[in-house]
Amino acid sequence: MSYLTRHFNIPIFIPELGCPFRCVFCNQRSITGKKEYPLPDEITNIIETYLSTIKKNSFIEIGFFGGNFTGIPEGLMERYLAIANKYVKYSKINGIRVSTRPDYINDNKLYLLKKYGVTTIELGVQSLNDNVLKVSKRGYEKKDVIIASKKIKDMGFRLGHQVMIGLPYSDINTEIETAKEIIKIGVDDLRIYPLLVLEGTELEEMYNNKVYKPLSLEEAILRTKEFVKIVYKKTNIIRIGLHPSEDLQIKKFIGPFHPSFRELVMSKLCLDVVYKINESFKSDEIQIIINPKEYNFFIGYRKENKNFLYKNFKRVKILKEEKIKRGFIVVKNADKTRKFSIV
Ligand code: SF4
Repeated sequence: MSYLTRHFNIPIFIPELGCPFRCVFCNQRSITGKKEYPLPDEITNIIETYLSTIKKNSFIEIGFFGGNFTGIPEGLMERYLAIANKYVKYSKINGIRVSTRPDYINDNKLYLLKKYGVTTIELGVQSLNDNVLKVSKRGYEKKDVIIASKKIKDMGFRLGHQVMIGLPYSDINTEIETAKEIIKIGVDDLRIYPLLVLEGTELEEMYNNKVYKPLSLEEAILRTKEFVKIVYKKTNIIRIGLHPSEDLQIKKFIGPFHPSFRELVMSKLCLDVVYKINESFKSDEIQIIINPKEYNFFIGYRKENKNFLYKNFKRVKILKEEKIKRGFIVVKNADKTRKFSIV
């Protein structure tokens, strides 16, 4: 995969077909912006349209997102997968991802997914605290997530989890507990979303009845930052925050949404390091070296972190170098060199 340049997902949304009931925060149709699920024939058109725009040598996956993929009738699931599988066979794509619920994983479903070339299974986990799961009406417990995750890994799939920050009855402690469990499970890919109150959900009623209060943007950033601190070097974080166009095609919601949520979280994470640099270097001049992929996070949202350094040091040079491992920052002055860890 090293020769491939960019990673693309061809998203196919299968809205709520396989869901036995509705979680308190879910208005699935709003999240995906789709009112109906695609007919198998439509999928070919979606794939062809995307493929015609994606550059050669990209790493491409077809992703069946949006609902409970392994909960839909088996015949329909096979028809969807057979279409995607043709593209794997002809080497037009590199893999297939599906997103589903932990309680809809069993050996038979996994064999089926394997047969059609699915490479990654993402579980909508949300929390690994039983009380939070119960109040959110998820319909499964932490042990079910652990069992499903193990089966997925044992069968050789890549394992993804999706979690939420700010669920009813969750707090920073239950979220840290979830982050630690995720590491223990050995999750490969992770998506982290701050919870929003969507129109038409039970959560909206809870909000109206003052039973649930959404996090402020500031709280959501800080709580997500604490979560990311635990998982950053141990798993591949593929998303932090909802993407305005891809994930949230509705206007009516309440809660901590920001189009640059990931940047805000990562910038705050780096600000903690900036404070440490400020404490341990008392010279006029410093040089900071960072991996190019983390450069913008280090500079900070609206250059907040860089401006702080400029106020506290007379001369600051910030360099990007590939050889600096991600997650680390090297700081030098005339007397010493020190390596800082972002988390
Ligand atoms: S499992 Fe997902 S799609 Fe189904 S009701 Fe819950 S949040 Fe919505």
